[in-house]
Amino acid sequence: MEFERVEFGKTYTSPLTPEEVNHYSRQLVLPQFGVEGQIKLKNTSVLLVGAGGLGCSAAIHLAGSGVGQLTIVDHDRIEASNLHRQILYRSEDVGRYKAEVLVERCSRSNPLSRMAPVALCTALTTENCLELVRNHAVILDCTDNVYARYLLNDACVLRGRALVSASALKFDGQLTVYNHQGSVCRRCLFPDPMALQAQSCDDNGVMGPGTQYLCWCFVRHRCTHHAVPGIMGSLQAMEAIKLASGMAVSFAGVQLHYDSLSGSFYRFKLRPRNPDCPVCGDKPSIRTLDDSHLGTNTCWTRQELKAKLDLPGDSIFLVDVRSPVELQICGFSDSLNIPITSLQDPSMHAEVSSQIEARLTAQRTRSDPPMVVTVCRRGNDSQLAVHLLRKILKDEERELIVKDLHGGLYAWKKEMDPEFPQY
Ligand SMILES: [Zn+2]
Repeated sequence: MEFERVEFGKTYTSPLTPEEVNHYSRQLVLPQFGVEGQIKLKNTSVLLVGAGGLGCSAAIHLAGSGVGQLTIVDHDRIEASNLHRQILYRSEDVGRYKAEVLVERCSRSNPLSRMAPVALCTALTTENCLELVRNHAVILDCTDNVYARYLLNDACVLRGRALVSASALKFDGQLTVYNHQGSVCRRCLFPDPMALQAQSCDDNGVMGPGTQYLCWCFVRHRCTHHAVPGIMGSLQAMEAIKLASGMAVSFAGVQLHYDSLSGSFYRFKLRPRNPDCPVCGDKPSIRTLDDSHLGTNTCWTRQELKAKLDLPGDSIFLVDVRSPVELQICGFSDSLNIPITSLQDPSMHAEVSSQIEARLTAQRTRSDPPMVVTVCRRGNDSQLAVHLLRKILKDEERELIVKDLHGGLYAWKKEMDPEFPQY
């Protein structure tokens, strides 16, 4: 590869500025990377979605290594409970947008970035996702929810970008590069987010000996130990750097699983791309981004629920799918508690059905058609609950509406009722 050599003085030329040579010297001398890799990195653009534990770790490594353009997308603000694992935030940052603060930290880490990192304090949506993906060369999925993960997957397939995706759950982490040079995409493994959410961790493995490791739960992780997201975010950054600098990636068609308790890393070969995949298959049914493909058509917004609750009479009833101990902490008054574990247990379905039918019968005189709204802490289990309840109650054969509260109690407090307790 030929570089344009710039005259900096009478005694030498270099394709890099003296400051760049000094800043990146430890990696410039690596023959697998060198000046060629550094210049490719300088000329690349990275989109990082999710400025949480994974995102903090990945972003600071990407910025420090010399990525030219880094765009960080996250609509959340920093909370005190984030600080234990989202390592770049300080207590004085609480209340500020994560994307904004993360960009500040990255800029300070590497003032030589050719273009300043861009913070987008907005949610990823079907409206903005395709354009964002199209405008960047490498995409990192550092999110923690089903909607964003499928949105990014579909956008990357539609725009021909590789997706470096990681997750952390409890003491474990996972990493895969989707849609790179013919490797699988997420939908090749899990075509329908709603159908798969109805399955348990034990029955949705897809690859033989590693079945227990390729678990749906990792798609919507929440609880994790301090260091695991940092480790997985660092690995994500390394794969992104390899992609951007033209080095061979290690996890296309391969899943890395990290078990922090045993201190072990495992590699699993994923099955090949699925020719029947709805988005990257030979005859794809998904040709653009659409909420109906993303598992959100079950949702009611906080505003929709508030409007229904404000109607005179009981037009709906709420099913709280959290554990009884969580319900004791706080909950909507007059909600029915049916834990998600009961909905997942077929032996409990008759009991669940009779509990709900009793409430529906009592309500039928006041509301037509009856409406059931599921609620959980963050809005993930409630989506799964809708899918399970629709089967248990056979909603397609009768006049019945089953929805869930989008974003759960967490979003309800933020947008509708600041007095609502949060835990
Ligand atoms: Zn696919």
